[in-house]
Amino acid sequence: MKKLVGEIKKEIDEEKIISIHEHIYPERFIENYSLENILRDSYLYSDLVSSGMARDQWEEIVSSEGIDPSPPFASLEEILKAMKYVRATSYYRALFLGLKELYGIERLNEENFKHWDEIVREKRKNGWEKKVFETSKIKMAFIDNFWSLADFEFPELYFKPVFRVDRLVQTVDPELKNKKGLRAIELAERLGFDISSFQGYCEMVSEVLATARKKGVVAVKVALAYYRSLSFPEVSEEVAKRAYEKRDRNMDMEFSNYMMHFVLKECEELGFPVLFHTGLHTRNANIVSNSDPKLLNTLFLKYPSVNFILLHAGYPFSRECAVLAKNFPNVFLDVTWLPMVTETGFKNLLREVLELVPGNKITWGSDSYHVEQMLGHARIFRELLSSVLSEMALEGRLSTDEAIEVGRWILNENAEEIFLK
Ligand SMILES: [Zn+2]
Repeated sequence: MKKLVGEIKKEIDEEKIISIHEHIYPERFIENYSLENILRDSYLYSDLVSSGMARDQWEEIVSSEGIDPSPPFASLEEILKAMKYVRATSYYRALFLGLKELYGIERLNEENFKHWDEIVREKRKNGWEKKVFETSKIKMAFIDNFWSLADFEFPELYFKPVFRVDRLVQTVDPELKNKKGLRAIELAERLGFDISSFQGYCEMVSEVLATARKKGVVAVKVALAYYRSLSFPEVSEEVAKRAYEKRDRNMDMEFSNYMMHFVLKECEELGFPVLFHTGLHTRNANIVSNSDPKLLNTLFLKYPSVNFILLHAGYPFSRECAVLAKNFPNVFLDVTWLPMVTETGFKNLLREVLELVPGNKITWGSDSYHVEQMLGHARIFRELLSSVLSEMALEGRLSTDEAIEVGRWILNENAEEIFLK
């Protein structure tokens, strides 16, 4: 018995991972990245805000413009003070597993912070990311670089780009900046498109998608559930055209619905897999029902040759999400982010998912902004994956070899099959 568990664990720990979803800033963008940056760019920060840290600032940031997903800015002192409330959370465990393994950090407080910050800055020099990728045994990560629009250049061999299309599917006003300051008009200027007419706009979107495909972009990503519901009723071309040409912001929703279908038709032709954000949102204010994966059901029927990958297994709507992946050959269940959202929830879910969904339809990513959290999260993921597979092998449902094979699919082969072939 012990031998079986040990064997599965050993194989799962050794196997290389393809992470299908990350936001890691390439090293060239982040000089002098500090320990404070690591804390602020980790998911733990959301739990700190949720605990009540910097609540006053938060209330000011929720403006009349709607829900701003960016965080309030607490002082370092406030961050360290609030830390005690979040020690039992999975976000804390993932981050501190990484910090401990890479730097030896066990606890952070006002007395030791400066000391550890110096060590972090020193170690982070020269090829740090690559080193941590190797330590994590992550051979490749698909990067959603939402901070720029249609930039597909990544010199790092372990990065593959994903094209986040939200900005082009959101509003009739190409001059409008999103929260990251991105505007569709800038893309048009860069590429030399005249987007004054609706036809011109659609031609640009179509051309950018085709270029992305040619340049080796592995998937299109839609994170619209951060801004609107995932229900996309069909809208006529005439209505979308009128909305665009009048720049009628009251018609943003109709325009957005039309453009989503437009993009999916293009993806159908180009053979682009489409990643949809479903389920819980990061940061501390949003409408969780907007991201219910059930809302996408009609799209799966309408575009049977498009592969839809449902990120985060739609958590907390995971059971519904698993049922969709069970029924539709073109729907895949991705567990990105979940092992560090809740370890216990993920473990129970994984067991249920393996009973519900064919094993060739499950993928994982850490969804991190930096490699410290990515490493900790990958450790947790491997631990829970081994544990569930061992349980199924001990029950005699799977042989040891079969359990290891399923593990391999989830760690890398499914990603390879869905995105790289
Ligand atoms: Zn993400």
